[in-house]
Amino acid sequence: MTTANTPSPLHSRLIILGSGPAGYTAAIYAARAMLSPMLIAGMQQGGQLTITTDVENYPGFADPIQGPWLMEQMQAQAVHMGTQLVSDHILAADLSKRPFTLTGDSGQIYTCDSLIIATGARALMLNVPGEDRLLGHGVSTCATCDGFFFRDHEIVVVGGGDSALEEAMFLTRFAKKVTLIHRRDSLRASKIMQERALANEKIEFLWNTQVTEVIGDTKVEKILVRNTVTGENSEMAATGVFVAIGHQPATDLFADQLELHDNGYLKVHDGSLTSIEGVFACGDVQDHHYRQAITAAGSGCMAAIDAERWLESQGA
Ligand code: FAD
Ligand code: NAP
Repeated sequence: MTTANTPSPLHSRLIILGSGPAGYTAAIYAARAMLSPMLIAGMQQGGQLTITTDVENYPGFADPIQGPWLMEQMQAQAVHMGTQLVSDHILAADLSKRPFTLTGDSGQIYTCDSLIIATGARALMLNVPGEDRLLGHGVSTCATCDGFFFRDHEIVVVGGGDSALEEAMFLTRFAKKVTLIHRRDSLRASKIMQERALANEKIEFLWNTQVTEVIGDTKVEKILVRNTVTGENSEMAATGVFVAIGHQPATDLFADQLELHDNGYLKVHDGSLTSIEGVFACGDVQDHHYRQAITAAGSGCMAAIDAERWLESQGA
C-alpha cells in the first residue's frame, strides 16, 4: 500500500473513493480493464462490513463468513488485479473542471480524469453507553442482514419512521417478541406503514421512551430506558437492539457540486452517471433503498464499466 506523503500531485486516469464493497468491486473491474485505478480507502478501510461479525447473505459462501475477512479478500483481489491502494481520507473535492482535484488529509493532492464515488453511508446511532461496544453482538442497524440471527429473541427496535416500522415487521418473522420504542407518542412513518405495524399483533409499542444504555458483557442482555414525559428510568429485558433512526450518506464533499436527493443521497441516472460528466457513483452513497453489500458490489461493477466506456469515448 502507498502512504501518500509527497507534495506533488498524483494523477490517475481513474480514482475510486471508498474501500467498501462498491469501491473494491469497481477497482477489480477497472483494474481488469487495464485502467490502473487508484483507490483511496478513507478512514474506515473496508467500509461498514468491518464493524460486523457474521455475514450470511453474500453469495458464494455456503457457511457464514466474517465481515472483516470478506473485506480483506476484496482488498486483496483489487490489489492483485493492479489497483493502487492509498491510505488517505479526502477532505476536499473540486469537480468544477477536469482533471478533477481531491485533497487528502495527508496534504496530498490527487488529480484524475474520471472519479467513482463509493463513500457509502452510515447508520445514525443513539450514542448511548454500551451501544458501540455491543454492535454486532446484539446491537444491529440492519434487520435484513441480522434478523436471521435473532430467532426466538426478545427484540427492541428504536425509531418511529418508516425504517423502524419496516424493521420491526420484518423481525416478527424471527423474534419471540418485538417492541418498538419511540421517543414521542406519535409515529413519523407514512400512514400505510403505521396501519400495518399497529395491526401487527406481534409488535408492542413503547411510547415516549428513550433508550439510555445497552447492557451486556459479551452480548446484549438488557437495556435501560427513560420515559421522556415522566423522566422515570427502568430496565427492560432484550437480547436484540435494532437502531433504526435514519442513515446519513457521506456526500458532504459533493453537496454544492453534484445533484443530490432531498435526503442527501447522490442522484444517479443511466446506471451510475452523476450530474457531472466523468463522475460516477455506486453503493450506499447513492442507494437509500437496498443498502446491502451485494447491491453495493453490483453497482460498483456498473460504475467501473460506465467509467471505462466514458474514458474510452474521451480518448483519455
Ligand atoms: P461502505 O461500506 O459504507 O464504505 C464506504 C467507504 O468510503 C469506506 O471505506 C470509507 O472509508 C470511505 N469513505 C467515506 N468518506 C470518504 C472520504 N471522504 N475519503 C475517502 N474515503 C471515504 N449488508 C449485507 O449485505 N449483509 C450483511 O450481513 C450486512 N451486515 C451489516 C452489518 C452492519 C453492522 C452494517 C453497518 C452494515 C451491514 N450491511 C450488510 C450493509 C453493508 O455493509 C453496506 O450496504 C455496504 O457496506 C455498502 O458498501 P459501500 O461500498 O457502498 O460503502
Ligand atoms: P426518519 O423518517 O428520519 O425517521 C427517523 C426516526 O428516528 C424518527 O421517528 C425519529 O424520531 C427517530 N429518531 C431520530 N433520532 C433519534 C434518536 N437520537 N433517538 C431516538 N429516536 C430518534 O428515517 P427513516 O425511518 O430511516 O426513513 C428515511 C426515509 O426513507 C423516509 O423518507 C422514509 O419515508 C423512507 N423509507 C420508506 C420506507 C417505505 O416506504 N417502505 C422504508 C424505509 C424508509 P422523531 O419522529 O421524534 O423525530
